[in-house]
Amino acid sequence: MSNKEFTLTILPGDGIGPEAMTEVRKVIGWLEDSEDLSFTLHEDDIGGAAYERYGEPLADETLDKCRASDAIIMGSVGGQQWDNVDYNKRPEAGLLKLRKELQLFANLRPALVFDALIDASTLKPEIVKGLDILIVRELTGGVYFGEPRGIEDLGNGQRRGVNTQVYETYEIERVGRVAFDLARKRGNKVHSCEKANVMESGKLWREDMTALHKAEFSDVNLEHMYADNCAMQLLRNPSQFDVIVTDNLFGDILSDAAAMLTGSLGMLPSASLGAKGVAGLYEPVHGSAPDIAGQGKANPLATILSFAMALRYSLDCGAQADKIEQAVQALLTKGIRTPDIMANGCTEVNTSQMGDALIKELS
Ligand code: NAD
Repeated sequence: MSNKEFTLTILPGDGIGPEAMTEVRKVIGWLEDSEDLSFTLHEDDIGGAAYERYGEPLADETLDKCRASDAIIMGSVGGQQWDNVDYNKRPEAGLLKLRKELQLFANLRPALVFDALIDASTLKPEIVKGLDILIVRELTGGVYFGEPRGIEDLGNGQRRGVNTQVYETYEIERVGRVAFDLARKRGNKVHSCEKANVMESGKLWREDMTALHKAEFSDVNLEHMYADNCAMQLLRNPSQFDVIVTDNLFGDILSDAAAMLTGSLGMLPSASLGAKGVAGLYEPVHGSAPDIAGQGKANPLATILSFAMALRYSLDCGAQADKIEQAVQALLTKGIRTPDIMANGCTEVNTSQMGDALIKELS
């Protein structure tokens, strides 16, 4: 009898998603055999695969399964074959619907530089060595969703494009709480980034973060930083950061910049979290990589590390997440590499061999 039982929804998706997910299943098998955990897996489709099966990129029955899970592990979505499908039926629409329906308002993107991959960064090794940043991006509000929005014909040969940046206190506080809570388990430091100098929504963001900090998290170090300065500091001196919390638009840009400090798309996991009791969504940062799909070239580690985040943040199995992350570190140090992170003197392996090597390392 296992002491901990979990229900996971597994959504492999398109392109290299299914290949990477096969390797995640090996890790799940290892956890069941060796760590006294037990998993019920609900397998389903999302994205293009779901469009082919259900006529839409996220079927209601799939959403129901997600709602009834402890965590959702997703591969990736997208592919040229669905380029001409209606906008709301495209693969990406399935992912947006999932985030929206579950109100996953906090997007966690770690930027971690593995020592063995330090040369993959475009920055100097001494700048990125030991780098471990967590960006917490607000995901369901701000300028991507604010009203009014649209393109208006002004009738004089001119048009006007409008988007609205809007935040309410509860949105700022709930993502702030996630960031402060996470900082307590890490380096105890939060940088809150906005443009309070030129935007009212930024001023509110700064005031609400300051009040939340004072009321609930005064033991955590809080610094405010303008988002443009943050972009510059990420390149100049990234190791000053522990947790960065920011809005949807700035987070979109800053998390991509931070991710690239690590230099390897095939290694980057992410999590999207909602209210307590709602299943979190865990997925790699990369897309469906149609150029290498089906060739055994995909690096499965970003998806496996996303699963490790699920263990830590949704399943309260931090010890097992640590084991997986340490095994990945050890594999890289031994020079076991998929083609995307291959370097001189290392051993090139395919997707499946990478998964097998990880299980061997874990064992
Ligand atoms: P991509 O991330 O799929 O690929 C970019 C490049 O990185 C490609 O050369 C690819 O081969 C390589 N790459 C990506 N992941 C890799 C891995 N795990 N191992 C080895 N190499 C890897 O981005 P793209 O090419 O711009 O987009 C392809 C499709 O993915 C599009 O349909 C896009 O809309 C979709 N997409 C989906 C997501 C998602 O599912 N969250 C994210 C980004 C893009």
